[in-house]
Amino acid sequence: KTETAHPRPWIDHYPEGVRWDDEIDLTPVHERLLEICQRTPDAVALDFLGKKTRFRELGRDIERFAAALQSQFSVTKGTRVALLLPNTPFYVIAYYAILRAGGTVVNCNPLYTVPELAHIVGNSGASVMVTLDLKQLFDKAERLVADGQVKSLVVCHFPDALPILKRNLFKLAKRKDLAHVSASPIADRTAKFSDMIDRDGALVPVRLDPLKDVAVQQYTGGTTGLPKGAMLSHANIAANMSQIDKWGLGLFDPPTRVVAVLPFFHIFAMTACMNVPLCSGAQVVMLPRFEMKALLDLLTRTGANVMPAVPTLIHALGRAGPSAVSALSSLKVVVSGGAPLSDETRTLFARVSPALLAEGYGLTEASPVVCCAALRVPSKPRSIGQPLPGTDIRFVDIETGEPAALGERGELQVKGPQVMLGYYDDPEADLEAFADGWLRTGDVGLLDEDGYVFLVDRIKDLIITSGFNVYPRTIEEAIYGHEAVDEVTVIGVPDTYRGEAPVAFVKLKAETSANEADIKAFIADKLNKLEMPREIIFRSELPKTLIGKLSKKELREEYAQRKGSK
Ligand code: AMP
Repeated sequence: KTETAHPRPWIDHYPEGVRWDDEIDLTPVHERLLEICQRTPDAVALDFLGKKTRFRELGRDIERFAAALQSQFSVTKGTRVALLLPNTPFYVIAYYAILRAGGTVVNCNPLYTVPELAHIVGNSGASVMVTLDLKQLFDKAERLVADGQVKSLVVCHFPDALPILKRNLFKLAKRKDLAHVSASPIADRTAKFSDMIDRDGALVPVRLDPLKDVAVQQYTGGTTGLPKGAMLSHANIAANMSQIDKWGLGLFDPPTRVVAVLPFFHIFAMTACMNVPLCSGAQVVMLPRFEMKALLDLLTRTGANVMPAVPTLIHALGRAGPSAVSALSSLKVVVSGGAPLSDETRTLFARVSPALLAEGYGLTEASPVVCCAALRVPSKPRSIGQPLPGTDIRFVDIETGEPAALGERGELQVKGPQVMLGYYDDPEADLEAFADGWLRTGDVGLLDEDGYVFLVDRIKDLIITSGFNVYPRTIEEAIYGHEAVDEVTVIGVPDTYRGEAPVAFVKLKAETSANEADIKAFIADKLNKLEMPREIIFRSELPKTLIGKLSKKELREEYAQRKGSK
């Protein structure tokens, strides 16, 4: 029944040239990349702080590293290999080499603490980890090996990634942040990346089943309990790459240059900043971490044209004002994802850049992209666009569990070739994650008659006050309208009379002022009584996740503690 019960109004309103039922290519990404390496060996694949890697070298290093992973660490089908790396060429080589050797990539956020990393490597059973010899990373990896969490380390020598001049300066400076790996007590359990790619090795071909074999085991769900490993098959990853590629109508083909400022270990960047452009033969220009001046310099130097980004980054660019205009002038398309894009951010960004700002939506469990605004022409305002080719969505009433009518709110559920196999070793989480074979996203929204999707909020952020549903995003958007407000996050807190009540945390713009009464007066005619925040708390900073999403988890914990200690 569910197969036919949902309408697909988007099919008739797709951007010109895109077809929903086009065949989706499920060839694994490493095979496609290696094919491109052969086809366009002289084209530049990567630019890291000015050091360029051509497809020829990239392909050669992937093959060599894959062979060395097999022969030195017995990596084969099913072996989990952890990556603890910022955006560098090492990440790209290691990622595709693990897949080529038949293994599974386990991405680790370099800012995670040792216990967080221990959970990920322990749960996934990763025996090998690839990291850098920068102390802030190596020290953590060393701890994991010393504690027996990881058996062996592959260590990349950071200066090797730099252009020659920068490398020499780096060496001359005798940097204290460079770890002395050979003096480490775990030196006997480390291998040098540079030695591993030094010579050709014989690669043992691995026969993969793209539909079943796990390419990436991606940990997610850190805001509620321990992160779970979403198993993304080779076909899942390949499908999402093809879907985005079809949606872009050649946007990612050479001579496009794509900016990779979002970290590759996050699924959005892994797909949009790495797999899609590289497998199309385009160039990826990388930044190891976000810093405004470095990003503007990079744009000026490379003339990059496409940039996947998150709203906080787009907001920051908008706020950079006239000084950013010339650096941003080469950008044609900026794709925003990961969190809601506010009107305020759109307006700010439009003042500094004429680029098309297209909002997309996705989640780790869908490899990640589900919907996206058109990438060639402006889309419906405030919509996260339409489902990508081959993707089915439906909305289900939160209270009754019945499919919602067009235009009615419900939980967004997804089916498609990009939807994960399930969580690793967690059948209970799987039961919760799927309903009749549909992936439950936990996001609330609606579909209009043209097949455009509008998101309202997340189920877990929903505030139930006096028995009514209140969506924090509605309140956040009202408060964002105040000219002194830079960032706002609204959470639900326990309330004796109403069950829950909204509380807003606000960061003001520099050199502006506003107090609680000002903001309450400003939003009084925009919100109903139940939506009015019980309290507005001012902060100089609001907590964010590493990818730059405003995070509610810390504020909830802090608020609970504050009230508990009173
Ligand atoms: P993650 O798996 O960490 O990428 O987080 C996925 C979640 O990010 C989704 O379930 C949404 O709640 C949120 N998200 C992603 N894109 C958007 C968007 N364009 N608007 C609103 N929320 C988004």
